[in-house]
Amino acid sequence: MEIFFLGTNGWYETSMGSTTCSLVKTVNENIVLDAGSGFYRVEKLLDYSKPVYIFLSHLHIDHIEGLQILRKFDIASGIKILLGPDMKKELESFLRPPFAPPLSSLKTKIEIFEPPYDLPFNVETLPLAHAVPATAFRFSSSSFIPGTRGMRITREDDTSDETSRRMLPKTSELSIPVQRLCCSGFICLTSASMQSM
Ligand SMILES: [Zn+2]
Repeated sequence: MEIFFLGTNGWYETSMGSTTCSLVKTVNENIVLDAGSGFYRVEKLLDYSKPVYIFLSHLHIDHIEGLQILRKFDIASGIKILLGPDMKKELESFLRPPFAPPLSSLKTKIEIFEPPYDLPFNVETLPLAHAVPATAFRFSSSSFIPGTRGMRITREDDTSDETSRRMLPKTSELSIPVQRLCCSGFICLTSASMQSM
């Protein structure tokens, strides 16, 4: 399994880095965590023989601006975008004219899903305290690292709520705590880090 931190900034891109995006390459899939401007780097890193899943924690612009390059991709298996509850209509309104070309015009089939998901690995969600509805994800699958009983990855996100931030990482082998202050008007200079649990 490989993890790439493609963007860890909040709010806007600076010389310190792009806005939030991480790529987790497992044995069977590409898992993208948020699609800020760091998503512009994902094109060269994807394994195009495997499915692509994009999980979006919430719909603030610094987490979705990278989606404007979806039309660059030509992926036969399509791209699945996974959201928290009740976010699909809002995202669809961003991924259509005048903001973007119609999804139906893209070379790659883009599908958008809310929970419950039907995926080949387990995903748990937890609502996070934020200015808008936001979701933390915990992924688990024995296929992430062959030969192990399982690997759980948590993607938490910018939230000021300590309770919700702590609930998922405690029970994960790996947490990806990226930008906790993003959209509330601060630039987060904290680099992404990995924590062994
Ligand atoms: Zn935000």
